[in-house]
Amino acid sequence: MLTNQTTAQWRERDAAHHWHPQSDMKEVNAHGSRIITRAEGVYIHDSDGNKILDGMAGLWCVMVGYGRKEIGAAVARQMDELPYYNLFFQCSHPPATQLAEKIASLTPPGMNKIFFTGSGSESNDTALRLVRTYWAVQGKPEKTIVIGRRNGYHGSTLAGVTLGGMKAMHEQGGPLVPDITHIDQPYWYDEGGDLSPEEFGLKAARALEAEIDRVGENRVAAFIAEPIQGAGGVIIPPSTYWPEVKRILKEREILFIADEVICGFGRTGEWWGSTSFDLQPDVLCMAKGLTSGYLPMGAVAVADRVSEVMYEKAGEFTHGYTYSGHPAACAAALANIAILEGEDLVGKAKRDLAPYLKEKWGALADHPLVGDASTFGMLGKLELTPNKKTRARFAKPGRIGGWTRNRSIANGLVMRAVRDSMIISPPLSITKAEIDEMAAKALKTLDELHRHVKETGEI
Ligand SMILES: *Cc1c(COP(=O)(O)O)cnc(C)c1O
Repeated sequence: MLTNQTTAQWRERDAAHHWHPQSDMKEVNAHGSRIITRAEGVYIHDSDGNKILDGMAGLWCVMVGYGRKEIGAAVARQMDELPYYNLFFQCSHPPATQLAEKIASLTPPGMNKIFFTGSGSESNDTALRLVRTYWAVQGKPEKTIVIGRRNGYHGSTLAGVTLGGMKAMHEQGGPLVPDITHIDQPYWYDEGGDLSPEEFGLKAARALEAEIDRVGENRVAAFIAEPIQGAGGVIIPPSTYWPEVKRILKEREILFIADEVICGFGRTGEWWGSTSFDLQPDVLCMAKGLTSGYLPMGAVAVADRVSEVMYEKAGEFTHGYTYSGHPAACAAALANIAILEGEDLVGKAKRDLAPYLKEKWGALADHPLVGDASTFGMLGKLELTPNKKTRARFAKPGRIGGWTRNRSIANGLVMRAVRDSMIISPPLSITKAEIDEMAAKALKTLDELHRHVKETGEI
């Protein structure tokens, strides 16, 4: 595809017409985009010939790695046979049927109905309309409030933005969706103060209880949360958090929506983050790892206790997308899941890779600028700090993180910066040697950062 173009030519053409998602276009075009031309395994290649280890698996999604010919082949076969048909008006097609069956076999017990969407955002939109409808058809239409968390991420549609707790996103494009509130996040490193992680975990969980009481339990439809906040900065909750939230959910008449768009499909070392934390969601939203990003697709798994009420009482659920269960996307998802199962990538992540990552990545905590280098499953982070003891932040939030991300990419590793937290989420297909490479490249960048901080005096 016109790969004889130079980087400068691509940049110029891109700047002329392409408005990038989640981007400051003035800044993008001042620097020029990085043009990614191909990818193989855990590596991406850019138009300047650089080979970069993709420590983020794209946007958390490329679980099986790049270049899996069997996914493309399955999609091509499906395109030849039935490139599109809708699932409205009492129709179905074999790929949607097969994929719903497959997902239901993987979801936590008692979640047997699968609603297809085109993305993670659409999955969360679906969840919002679903939980409100669930209560309405039972004669409780006042139960409309959904409680999310500050700094949670649930997507970029209006419902996704509102459910999420990203301040910068709330500031644009409002007014937001009514009846959505937020509680504090279980981010001990930044917000735990003098409390122990365990004490802070309980406090953060009890914020849910307090919020339910504040707005009135009779008004609350659901609590939505990522098992581990991803885009917020790989926020691994203290060990006390989820057990306490579970206790509260059990006592209250509200539903629980697990946003597993990042945690699903093996990211945490289990098929679901909910399994890692022993949670029983009523609604489970997925996307990303469902197709490893090879085609856009999302889905919502619904617990029997919810689907039975909806099937029985809701009549037509007036919700669905033109591309719900798109046959080619279903084929991609089925081929992707076949790889995950066939190569036991989830089991290997749990037994082999996650402990190895914990050891290698965790060793970066010895670096003078790293306050925390924890991992969970195949998620990892580095909290950058000028003072490890006080867990202080650098004076200008995000500046050091941005600098570090840019150096890391120049050093051949994609790490993402969330303010001054560096995060990774590599493909599950990564090898131990590649984990070594990732940790070594991160260390090199940290040492460069150390010199940079000394030279500039930035704290
Ligand atoms: C990425 C993400 C979404 C949004 O998914 P899109 O496919 O970008 O719409 C929702 N929730 C979480 C947890 C995510 O990480």
